Amino acid sequence: MPADCIFCQIVAGQLPATMLYQDDEITAFRDIQAQATSHVLVIPNRHIASLGDTSDADIELLGRILRVAVSLAKEEGIAESGYRVVTNTGHDAQQSVDHLHFHLLGGNTLVPRLG
Ligand code: AMP
Ligand code: ZN
Repeated sequence: MPADCIFCQIVAGQLPATMLYQDDEITAFRDIQAQATSHVLVIPNRHIASLGDTSDADIELLGRILRVAVSLAKEEGIAESGYRVVTNTGHDAQQSVDHLHFHLLGGNTLVPRLG
């Protein structure tokens, strides 16, 4: 794990976060700068820089991450009202943390634009 990766540090319990879920492959915690009423980050425990750095070996992991997002949407009470799952990849998407993460956003009406 890169020593300077803040999400690796959160997975390892070395940096505080409001943890919502953790198993041996996946961790979820609240985004420190919420952009919606409910804003959760779902990440692989293993350091993967971005979606572009996954391989076919990660297909099951990626599916599990999305299923954890669905479970958290239910726990957050936003399953019925609706939510968005987003992963920013690279410069033009303004990815700011180079450890793969999926944003789960909901709890209010989200801005319609995606790009
Ligand atoms: P992105 O811009 O898609 O790379 O998303 C990175 C997200 O990580 C942003 O929404 C940040 O607010 C969030 N973030 C950065 N540092 C932390 C932290 N220490 N704990 C929780 N969320 C964080
Ligand atoms: Zn990392």
